[in-house]
Amino acid sequence: MSQSFKALVVEDAGGAHKTSVQELGMDRLPAGEVTVRVAYSTVNYKDGLAVVHRGRIIRSYPMVPGIDFSGTVVDSQSPEFKPGEQVVLNGWGVGERHWGGFAQMARAKAEWLVKLPAGIGLKQAMAIGTAGYTAMLCVMALEDYGIKPGDKEVIVTGAAGGVGSVAVAILARLGHAVAASTGRPEQADYLKSLGARTIVARGDFDKPGKPLDAERWAGGIDSVGSQTLATVLSQVRYGGAVAACGLAGGTNLPATVLPFILRGVGLLGVDSVMCPRPRRQAAWARLAKDLPFDKLDAMTTVHGLDQVPALADAILKGQVRGRAVIDLG
Ligand code: NDP
Repeated sequence: MSQSFKALVVEDAGGAHKTSVQELGMDRLPAGEVTVRVAYSTVNYKDGLAVVHRGRIIRSYPMVPGIDFSGTVVDSQSPEFKPGEQVVLNGWGVGERHWGGFAQMARAKAEWLVKLPAGIGLKQAMAIGTAGYTAMLCVMALEDYGIKPGDKEVIVTGAAGGVGSVAVAILARLGHAVAASTGRPEQADYLKSLGARTIVARGDFDKPGKPLDAERWAGGIDSVGSQTLATVLSQVRYGGAVAACGLAGGTNLPATVLPFILRGVGLLGVDSVMCPRPRRQAAWARLAKDLPFDKLDAMTTVHGLDQVPALADAILKGQVRGRAVIDLG
Protein backbone atom coordinates (compact mmCIF):
# COMPACT_ATOMS: atom_id res chain seq x y z
CA MET A 1 0.00 0.00 0.00
CA SER A 2 1.41 3.40 -0.90
CA GLN A 3 2.38 5.58 2.06
CA SER A 4 0.74 8.73 0.79
CA PHE A 5 -2.14 9.69 -1.45
CA LYS A 6 -3.58 12.76 -3.17
CA ALA A 7 -6.83 14.26 -1.94
CA LEU A 8 -8.93 17.35 -2.49
CA VAL A 9 -9.17 18.89 0.98
CA VAL A 10 -11.60 21.61 2.06
CA GLU A 11 -10.47 23.53 5.13
CA ASP A 12 -12.25 26.14 7.19
CA ALA A 13 -10.10 28.94 8.58
CA GLY A 14 -12.52 30.93 10.71
CA GLY A 15 -15.28 30.95 8.08
CA ALA A 16 -12.97 31.36 5.08
CA HIS A 17 -12.87 28.14 3.08
CA LYS A 18 -9.80 26.91 1.27
CA THR A 19 -9.86 24.04 -1.22
CA SER A 20 -6.61 22.44 -2.39
CA VAL A 21 -5.16 19.18 -3.64
CA GLN A 22 -2.83 17.81 -0.95
CA GLU A 23 -0.54 14.84 -0.48
CA LEU A 24 -1.60 13.07 2.73
CA GLY A 25 -0.18 10.21 4.79
CA MET A 26 -2.25 7.05 5.24
CA ASP A 27 -2.54 7.87 8.94
CA ARG A 28 -4.86 10.75 7.98
CA LEU A 29 -7.60 8.38 6.73
CA PRO A 30 -10.68 8.25 8.98
CA ALA A 31 -11.69 5.18 10.98
CA GLY A 32 -13.46 2.33 9.19
CA GLU A 33 -13.19 -1.39 8.53
CA VAL A 34 -12.40 -1.30 4.82
CA THR A 35 -9.64 0.63 3.06
CA VAL A 36 -10.20 1.21 -0.64
CA ARG A 37 -7.90 2.38 -3.40
CA VAL A 38 -10.24 4.78 -5.17
CA ALA A 39 -10.29 4.45 -8.95
CA TYR A 40 -13.00 6.98 -9.84
CA SER A 41 -15.32 9.46 -8.22
CA THR A 42 -17.76 11.89 -9.78
CA VAL A 43 -19.19 15.37 -9.48
CA ASN A 44 -22.84 15.24 -8.44
CA TYR A 45 -24.99 18.29 -7.74
CA LYS A 46 -24.44 17.82 -4.00
CA ASP A 47 -20.67 17.75 -4.54
CA GLY A 48 -21.08 21.08 -6.30
CA LEU A 49 -22.84 22.48 -3.24
CA ALA A 50 -20.14 21.08 -0.94
CA VAL A 51 -17.17 22.37 -2.90
CA VAL A 52 -18.56 25.90 -3.35
CA HIS A 53 -19.77 25.98 0.29
CA ARG A 54 -23.50 26.29 -0.37
CA GLY A 55 -26.25 24.55 1.55
CA ARG A 56 -24.07 23.45 4.51
CA ILE A 57 -23.27 20.07 3.01
CA ILE A 58 -19.90 19.72 4.78
CA ARG A 59 -20.42 19.09 8.49
CA SER A 60 -16.83 18.95 9.76
CA TYR A 61 -13.43 20.24 8.62
CA PRO A 62 -11.00 19.42 7.17
CA MET A 63 -13.15 17.44 4.73
CA VAL A 64 -12.44 15.43 1.62
CA PRO A 65 -15.68 15.88 -0.35
CA GLY A 66 -17.04 13.42 -2.90
CA ILE A 67 -20.29 11.60 -2.10
CA ASP A 68 -19.41 8.52 -4.11
CA PHE A 69 -16.49 6.43 -5.33
CA SER A 70 -15.59 3.13 -6.92
CA GLY A 71 -12.39 1.28 -6.15
CA THR A 72 -10.58 -1.85 -5.06
CA VAL A 73 -10.36 -3.11 -1.49
CA VAL A 74 -6.75 -3.06 -0.23
CA ASP A 75 -7.36 -3.91 3.42
CA SER A 76 -10.40 -5.20 5.27
CA GLN A 77 -11.22 -5.85 8.91
CA SER A 78 -14.63 -7.16 7.81
CA PRO A 79 -15.31 -10.78 6.79
CA GLU A 80 -17.61 -9.40 4.08
CA PHE A 81 -14.82 -7.90 1.96
CA LYS A 82 -11.47 -9.21 0.75
CA PRO A 83 -8.53 -7.36 -0.78
CA GLY A 84 -8.92 -7.19 -4.54
CA GLU A 85 -12.71 -6.92 -4.55
CA GLN A 86 -14.28 -4.06 -6.48
CA VAL A 87 -16.75 -1.92 -4.56
CA VAL A 88 -18.90 1.16 -4.93
CA LEU A 89 -20.06 3.62 -2.28
CA ASN A 90 -22.91 6.14 -2.52
CA GLY A 91 -24.00 8.49 0.23
CA TRP A 92 -24.19 7.56 3.92
CA GLY A 93 -22.82 11.03 4.68
CA VAL A 94 -19.55 10.33 2.90
CA GLY A 95 -18.15 13.61 1.58
CA GLU A 96 -20.30 15.41 4.17
CA ARG A 97 -19.42 14.00 7.62
CA HIS A 98 -16.88 11.35 6.64
CA TRP A 99 -14.04 11.74 4.14
CA GLY A 100 -15.21 10.97 0.64
CA GLY A 101 -14.27 10.09 -2.90
CA PHE A 102 -12.12 13.00 -4.10
CA ALA A 103 -8.99 11.13 -2.96
CA GLN A 104 -6.85 8.24 -4.12
CA MET A 105 -7.58 6.34 -0.88
CA ALA A 106 -10.70 6.05 1.28
CA ARG A 107 -11.70 4.19 4.41
CA ALA A 108 -15.32 3.35 5.17
CA LYS A 109 -17.65 1.18 7.21
CA ALA A 110 -18.17 -2.22 5.60
CA GLU A 111 -21.95 -1.76 5.70
CA TRP A 112 -21.70 1.30 3.42
CA LEU A 113 -20.07 -0.62 0.58
CA VAL A 114 -21.72 -2.53 -2.24
CA LYS A 115 -19.81 -5.10 -4.28
CA LEU A 116 -19.89 -4.18 -7.94
CA PRO A 117 -22.15 -6.54 -9.83
CA ALA A 118 -20.69 -8.48 -12.77
CA GLY A 119 -20.90 -6.39 -15.91
CA ILE A 120 -20.16 -3.03 -14.30
CA GLY A 121 -16.52 -1.88 -14.33
CA LEU A 122 -14.97 0.69 -11.99
CA LYS A 123 -15.24 3.51 -14.51
CA GLN A 124 -18.80 2.61 -15.49
CA ALA A 125 -19.74 2.51 -11.79
CA MET A 126 -18.86 6.18 -11.47
CA ALA A 127 -20.24 7.12 -14.87
CA ILE A 128 -23.43 5.91 -13.21
CA GLY A 129 -22.48 7.39 -9.82
CA THR A 130 -24.98 8.61 -7.27
CA ALA A 131 -26.96 10.41 -9.98
CA GLY A 132 -27.46 7.22 -11.99
CA TYR A 133 -28.12 5.01 -8.98
CA THR A 134 -30.73 7.56 -7.89
CA ALA A 135 -32.28 7.49 -11.36
CA MET A 136 -32.64 3.72 -10.97
CA LEU A 137 -34.20 4.14 -7.50
CA CYS A 138 -36.72 6.48 -9.17
CA VAL A 139 -37.49 3.93 -11.89
CA MET A 140 -37.97 1.23 -9.23
CA ALA A 141 -40.30 3.54 -7.26
CA LEU A 142 -42.47 4.07 -10.36
CA GLU A 143 -42.52 0.32 -11.01
CA ASP A 144 -43.51 -0.38 -7.40
CA TYR A 145 -46.43 2.02 -7.92
CA GLY A 146 -47.50 -0.02 -10.93
CA ILE A 147 -46.34 2.24 -13.77
CA LYS A 148 -45.73 0.10 -16.85
CA PRO A 149 -44.63 1.00 -20.38
CA GLY A 150 -47.70 2.11 -22.30
CA ASP A 151 -49.20 4.70 -24.54
CA LYS A 152 -48.57 7.83 -22.48
CA GLU A 153 -45.12 9.26 -21.96
CA VAL A 154 -43.08 9.38 -18.76
CA ILE A 155 -41.66 12.88 -18.27
CA VAL A 156 -38.09 13.37 -17.03
CA THR A 157 -37.21 16.88 -15.81
CA GLY A 158 -33.68 18.28 -15.67
CA ALA A 159 -33.18 15.74 -18.42
CA ALA A 160 -29.74 16.80 -19.67
CA GLY A 161 -28.30 16.60 -16.13
CA GLY A 162 -26.88 13.49 -14.45
CA VAL A 163 -30.02 11.99 -12.90
CA GLY A 164 -32.05 13.03 -15.93
CA SER A 165 -29.74 11.57 -18.57
CA VAL A 166 -29.53 8.17 -16.88
CA ALA A 167 -33.30 8.16 -16.21
CA VAL A 168 -34.04 8.85 -19.90
CA ALA A 169 -31.72 6.02 -21.01
CA ILE A 170 -33.12 3.46 -18.55
CA LEU A 171 -36.78 4.30 -19.15
CA ALA A 172 -36.33 4.13 -22.93
CA ARG A 173 -34.50 0.81 -22.64
CA LEU A 174 -37.39 -0.57 -20.56
CA GLY A 175 -39.84 0.36 -23.30
CA HIS A 176 -41.35 3.53 -21.89
CA ALA A 177 -42.18 6.42 -24.19
CA VAL A 178 -40.00 9.16 -22.71
CA ALA A 179 -40.45 12.93 -22.79
CA ALA A 180 -37.36 14.89 -21.75
CA SER A 181 -37.72 18.38 -20.31
CA THR A 182 -34.69 20.61 -20.65
CA GLY A 183 -33.76 24.27 -20.42
CA ARG A 184 -31.03 23.63 -23.00
CA PRO A 185 -32.71 23.21 -26.40
CA GLU A 186 -29.27 22.59 -27.92
CA GLN A 187 -29.24 19.26 -26.05
CA ALA A 188 -32.30 17.94 -27.94
CA ASP A 189 -30.26 15.66 -30.24
CA TYR A 190 -28.28 14.35 -27.25
CA LEU A 191 -31.50 13.53 -25.38
CA LYS A 192 -33.00 11.85 -28.43
CA SER A 193 -29.83 9.78 -28.78
CA LEU A 194 -30.41 8.56 -25.20
CA GLY A 195 -33.90 7.45 -26.16
CA ALA A 196 -36.19 10.45 -25.58
CA ARG A 197 -39.16 10.51 -27.96
CA THR A 198 -40.24 14.07 -27.22
CA ILE A 199 -38.34 17.16 -26.07
CA VAL A 200 -40.26 19.58 -23.87
CA ALA A 201 -39.08 23.08 -22.97
CA ARG A 202 -38.30 23.76 -19.31
CA GLY A 203 -40.46 26.88 -19.70
CA ASP A 204 -43.56 24.66 -20.07
CA PHE A 205 -43.24 23.72 -16.39
CA ASP A 206 -41.68 26.51 -14.41
CA LYS A 207 -44.63 28.93 -14.36
CA PRO A 208 -47.82 28.52 -12.31
CA GLY A 209 -50.64 26.80 -14.22
CA LYS A 210 -53.93 25.08 -13.45
CA PRO A 211 -54.04 23.00 -10.25
CA LEU A 212 -55.39 20.16 -12.38
CA ASP A 213 -54.39 20.21 -16.04
CA ALA A 214 -54.96 17.85 -18.98
CA GLU A 215 -53.69 14.32 -18.30
CA ARG A 216 -50.45 14.28 -20.22
CA TRP A 217 -48.03 11.89 -18.49
CA ALA A 218 -48.10 8.27 -17.30
CA GLY A 219 -45.57 9.29 -14.68
CA GLY A 220 -42.49 11.34 -14.08
CA ILE A 221 -38.98 11.48 -12.66
CA ASP A 222 -38.26 14.94 -11.30
CA SER A 223 -34.83 16.27 -10.33
CA VAL A 224 -35.92 19.92 -10.29
CA GLY A 225 -38.62 20.37 -7.60
CA SER A 226 -40.50 23.64 -6.98
CA GLN A 227 -42.95 24.86 -9.68
CA THR A 228 -41.68 22.24 -12.14
CA LEU A 229 -42.72 19.38 -9.86
CA ALA A 230 -46.05 21.08 -9.12
CA THR A 231 -46.79 21.42 -12.84
CA VAL A 232 -45.83 17.83 -13.59
CA LEU A 233 -48.11 16.60 -10.77
CA SER A 234 -51.02 18.57 -12.20
CA GLN A 235 -50.55 16.82 -15.58
CA VAL A 236 -50.11 13.20 -14.48
CA ARG A 237 -52.92 10.92 -15.54
CA TYR A 238 -55.25 9.03 -13.23
CA GLY A 239 -53.29 6.47 -11.17
CA GLY A 240 -49.88 7.73 -12.28
CA ALA A 241 -46.98 8.83 -10.09
CA VAL A 242 -43.94 11.09 -9.93
CA ALA A 243 -40.67 10.05 -8.31
CA ALA A 244 -39.20 13.22 -6.81
CA CYS A 245 -35.51 13.24 -6.00
CA GLY A 246 -34.11 16.70 -6.65
CA LEU A 247 -34.10 20.41 -5.96
CA ALA A 248 -32.14 21.90 -8.86
CA GLY A 249 -34.96 24.43 -9.33
CA GLY A 250 -35.78 24.97 -5.66
CA THR A 251 -36.98 23.25 -2.50
CA ASN A 252 -40.55 24.55 -2.30
CA LEU A 253 -43.61 22.83 -3.74
CA PRO A 254 -46.35 25.27 -4.79
CA ALA A 255 -48.95 22.56 -5.51
CA THR A 256 -52.51 21.64 -4.49
CA VAL A 257 -53.77 18.29 -3.23
CA LEU A 258 -56.08 17.91 -6.25
CA PRO A 259 -53.87 15.48 -8.25
CA PHE A 260 -53.64 13.24 -5.18
CA ILE A 261 -57.31 13.23 -4.15
CA LEU A 262 -58.99 13.42 -7.57
CA ARG A 263 -56.62 11.30 -9.66
CA GLY A 264 -54.91 9.07 -7.09
CA VAL A 265 -51.57 10.40 -8.28
CA GLY A 266 -48.59 9.29 -6.19
CA LEU A 267 -45.76 11.56 -5.11
CA LEU A 268 -42.90 9.18 -4.41
CA GLY A 269 -39.98 10.56 -2.44
CA VAL A 270 -36.62 9.07 -3.37
CA ASP A 271 -33.55 9.28 -1.13
CA SER A 272 -30.26 7.70 -2.11
CA VAL A 273 -28.17 8.69 0.92
CA MET A 274 -29.70 6.55 3.69
CA CYS A 275 -31.41 4.07 1.36
CA PRO A 276 -31.23 0.60 3.00
CA ARG A 277 -28.54 -1.69 1.66
CA PRO A 278 -30.80 -4.38 0.11
CA ARG A 279 -32.52 -1.70 -1.98
CA ARG A 280 -29.11 -0.34 -3.09
CA GLN A 281 -27.94 -3.80 -4.05
CA ALA A 282 -31.15 -4.30 -6.01
CA ALA A 283 -30.64 -0.95 -7.77
CA TRP A 284 -27.05 -1.79 -8.76
CA ALA A 285 -28.14 -5.23 -10.00
CA ARG A 286 -30.87 -3.57 -12.07
CA LEU A 287 -28.35 -1.07 -13.48
CA ALA A 288 -26.17 -3.97 -14.64
CA LYS A 289 -29.21 -5.42 -16.45
CA ASP A 290 -31.22 -2.45 -17.67
CA LEU A 291 -28.82 0.43 -18.36
CA PRO A 292 -27.65 0.66 -21.98
CA PHE A 293 -23.89 1.03 -21.50
CA ASP A 294 -23.27 2.51 -24.96
CA LYS A 295 -25.58 5.36 -23.95
CA LEU A 296 -23.75 5.68 -20.62
CA ASP A 297 -20.46 6.18 -22.49
CA ALA A 298 -22.06 8.90 -24.60
CA MET A 299 -23.17 10.87 -21.54
CA THR A 300 -19.82 10.68 -19.68
CA THR A 301 -16.77 12.95 -19.61
CA VAL A 302 -13.63 12.16 -17.58
CA HIS A 303 -11.60 14.76 -15.65
CA GLY A 304 -8.73 15.06 -13.17
CA LEU A 305 -8.92 15.88 -9.47
CA ASP A 306 -7.74 19.45 -10.05
CA GLN A 307 -10.81 20.10 -12.23
CA VAL A 308 -13.31 19.40 -9.43
CA PRO A 309 -13.72 23.06 -8.32
CA ALA A 310 -14.53 24.22 -11.88
CA LEU A 311 -16.94 21.32 -12.37
CA ALA A 312 -18.59 22.10 -9.02
CA ASP A 313 -19.26 25.62 -10.19
CA ALA A 314 -20.53 24.43 -13.58
CA ILE A 315 -22.93 21.81 -12.20
CA LEU A 316 -24.63 24.38 -9.96
CA LYS A 317 -25.11 26.59 -13.01
CA GLY A 318 -26.76 23.69 -14.87
CA GLN A 319 -23.90 23.58 -17.36
CA VAL A 320 -22.74 20.00 -16.95
CA ARG A 321 -24.23 17.57 -19.47
CA GLY A 322 -24.72 14.00 -18.28
CA ARG A 323 -22.06 12.69 -15.94
CA ALA A 324 -18.66 14.11 -14.96
CA VAL A 325 -16.30 11.35 -13.78
CA ILE A 326 -13.12 12.07 -11.79
CA ASP A 327 -10.18 9.75 -12.52
CA LEU A 328 -8.05 9.20 -9.39
CA GLY A 329 -5.59 6.86 -11.07
P1 NDP B 1 -27.28 18.10 -12.60
O1 NDP B 1 -26.88 19.50 -12.41
O2 NDP B 1 -26.43 17.20 -13.42
O3 NDP B 1 -28.74 18.07 -13.23
C1 NDP B 1 -29.74 18.99 -12.84
C2 NDP B 1 -30.46 19.47 -14.08
O4 NDP B 1 -31.60 20.23 -13.66
C3 NDP B 1 -29.64 20.42 -14.93
O5 NDP B 1 -28.77 19.78 -15.81
C4 NDP B 1 -30.73 21.17 -15.67
O6 NDP B 1 -31.22 20.32 -16.70
C5 NDP B 1 -31.84 21.26 -14.61
N1 NDP B 1 -31.80 22.55 -13.90
C6 NDP B 1 -30.74 23.15 -13.32
N2 NDP B 1 -31.09 24.30 -12.74
C7 NDP B 1 -32.42 24.44 -12.95
C8 NDP B 1 -33.36 25.43 -12.60
N3 NDP B 1 -33.02 26.51 -11.91
N4 NDP B 1 -34.65 25.24 -12.98
C9 NDP B 1 -35.00 24.16 -13.67
N5 NDP B 1 -34.14 23.17 -14.04
C10 NDP B 1 -32.87 23.31 -13.68
O7 NDP B 1 -27.49 17.47 -11.15
P2 NDP B 1 -27.73 15.93 -10.74
O8 NDP B 1 -28.38 15.22 -11.87
O9 NDP B 1 -26.50 15.40 -10.13
O10 NDP B 1 -28.79 16.12 -9.58
C11 NDP B 1 -30.09 16.57 -9.89
C12 NDP B 1 -30.86 16.87 -8.61
O11 NDP B 1 -31.12 15.65 -7.94
C13 NDP B 1 -30.12 17.76 -7.63
O12 NDP B 1 -31.02 18.63 -7.01
C14 NDP B 1 -29.55 16.78 -6.63
O13 NDP B 1 -29.33 17.36 -5.39
C15 NDP B 1 -30.65 15.74 -6.61
N6 NDP B 1 -30.20 14.43 -6.18
C16 NDP B 1 -30.86 13.85 -5.14
C17 NDP B 1 -30.54 12.61 -4.71
C18 NDP B 1 -31.35 11.98 -3.64
O14 NDP B 1 -30.85 11.10 -2.93
N7 NDP B 1 -32.60 12.39 -3.47
C19 NDP B 1 -29.39 11.90 -5.27
C20 NDP B 1 -28.81 12.53 -6.44
C21 NDP B 1 -29.20 13.78 -6.85
P3 NDP B 1 -31.61 20.89 -18.15
O15 NDP B 1 -30.47 21.75 -18.58
O16 NDP B 1 -31.80 19.67 -18.98
O17 NDP B 1 -32.88 21.67 -17.95
